[in-house]
Formats: sequence, C-alpha cells, structure tokens
Amino acid sequence: MQGIKSIGVLGAGQMGAGIAQVFSLAGYGVKLTDISDEKLAGAVETIEHHMRRQVAKGRTKPEEVEAALAKIETATDYSIFADCDVVIEAATENEELKREIFKELCPVLKPEAILCSNTSSISITRLASVTDRPAQFMGMHFMNPVPVMQLVELIRGIATEESTFSTIRTLTQALGKTTASAEDFPAFIVNRVLMPMINEAVYTLYEGVGSVDAIDTAMRLGANHPMGPLELADFIGLDTCLAIMSVLYEGLADTKYRPCPLLVKYVEAGWVGQKAGRGFYDYSGDVPVPTR
Ligand code: NAD
Repeated sequence: MQGIKSIGVLGAGQMGAGIAQVFSLAGYGVKLTDISDEKLAGAVETIEHHMRRQVAKGRTKPEEVEAALAKIETATDYSIFADCDVVIEAATENEELKREIFKELCPVLKPEAILCSNTSSISITRLASVTDRPAQFMGMHFMNPVPVMQLVELIRGIATEESTFSTIRTLTQALGKTTASAEDFPAFIVNRVLMPMINEAVYTLYEGVGSVDAIDTAMRLGANHPMGPLELADFIGLDTCLAIMSVLYEGLADTKYRPCPLLVKYVEAGWVGQKAGRGFYDYSGDVPVPTR
C-alpha cells in the first residue's frame, strides 16, 4: 500500500510471528520486538519453518522467502519502531500489560504513525485512552494461524478517526485478507460467539458429559467444525481463552460468561495448550494424546 512501508510488530508469540510473516512476504519492512532474544530467535525460526513449508508445497518461491526474511529486523527495544508507519501490538492478552506497553511505546513513535492492537477482547477505547493518539488507534484482530486465516476483524474505538480506519482497511486488503468491522464491545464479534462455545465445551468435560475425545469428535463430525473445541482451545492458548472469558464476564456482567473452573485450573497449572506442550491434549509425542 502506498505510503506505508514499515510495519512494527510488538510481541513475537504465535500471533506476532504470523503477522510478521504475512507483512514481510507482502514486501513490507517488518520490525519485531519481544522481551528476550530467545523469544525473538524462536519466532524467526518459526517464521522460516512456515515459509519453507510453503516453498515445499509450491505456494512460494525460494527467492521470495529469502527476500521476506531479509525484511524482518528484531530487537528487544521499542526504539526500533521509530520509523514505522504502523505498529501492531500483539503482546499477551492482559490489559494492565498492554497499557504499560503503550505508555512506554508512544514516545518513540513518529507523530503520524498508526497504532493497532491485535487484542482478542479488550476495549479498544480504553487502550486508546492511555496513548497519545486515540484518533490514530484501532483494533486489527488477525486470526490464528495468521498466514492461513482469511479474516481480519477491524474495531474502531470511540475516538478512532475515519482516515485511520480506512488506511488500515486498505492495508489489510493489500495483504489479500478480508475485513469485517465490529463495534467496540467486549470480545467484538468472533470471540463473543466462539469463546462461550469453547467455555461450554470445557464445562461438558468438567461435568463429565464426555471425554476430550468424545467432545471434539462430536463437534467435528456432528456440527461439521474443522477442529474440536478443546483442540481449538489448546491451539489458541488456554491463557488467552481464559483472559477473553474474563473480559466477557466482567465487561457484560452476565453469569453466562463465567469461565469454567476447569479452564482456570489448567491455566493455573501452566497447562495452557500447544505452546506449553500440554493442555487438553499432551503434545510431547508424535501425535496429540487426550489427557482426560
Ligand atoms: P503468545 O503467548 O503466543 O505471545 C505473546 C507474546 O507477547 C510473548 O512472546 C510474550 O513474550 C510477548 N510479550 C509480553 N510482554 C511483552 C512486552 N512488554 N513487550 C514485547 N513483547 C511482550 O500469545 P498470542 O497467542 O500470540 O496472543 C497475542 C495477542 O494476540 C493477544 O492479545 C491475543 O488475545 C491476540 N490473539 C490471539 C489469538 C490466538 O488464537 N492465540 C488470535 C487472535 C488474537
């Protein structure tokens, strides 16, 4: 897209790595940060692995991969974002953490830079309020895995200017993605609908209605879902699922959004899904094995 050349991605977890991958392949310069060099090295390794798999499948040319990888610069310091036109925050789903990040980040950005959050659920208006640019702030909610999923949900905060929204919509379309616009209510559209379904699946496990395998098989074959809800929860990250349910529960003040106690317990145990090697499935072997 004309005018936008450099994209900052803050947080190099599953989402940040995917966002860096799609922008670099689309020809944008990408600046990627995280809290440690180990996290950044892991993210670059993941990006490279995914890109090489695309080459093996004949979807990308080897020279495109080399060019894309050369466009990604990493650092643990936000000063790397100084020349970015757009910065997308994709750090852990925790409002307090994101607020602290924005306070530290804003002073290094150029005045015209647009700031986006990839948050799955947190109020865009509240996050914008701690920045120095609420008019140039909005939600840009990529789906997981970013290179595969077609949708990007776009969310306006109360102060988001139309020019900000249209710039980000055009940028998203330049990546070949489709946008859906959501108002700034807890968890927006996708997770307002998806997360209570996942939470209910955890309740059916908690109450002994079915095993992990029975619940996932039932929803795959009975509702034609491509993944079972517990498999999907592990893929998203149980910490992220719990954070989203908590935002829904507190934000909408309705007991129907109460996070399942079993979900809470798994997160407390550190069994947060695929990224931890264990969630509702154990990922230590060649194939995931249900744990209950
Ligand atoms: P993740 O746990 O894989 O990654 C989060 C990353 O943020 C970690 O690498 C962590 O070290 C980093 N981080 C934490 N504090 C930081 C700081 N101060 N500066 C820089 N980096 C920092 O989580 P994720 O799944 O990638 O989720 C990231 C965001 O994307 C969340 O807001 C989440 O709600 C949203 N999201 C997640 C999914 C999903 O399916 N997992 C889908 C859409 C959106």
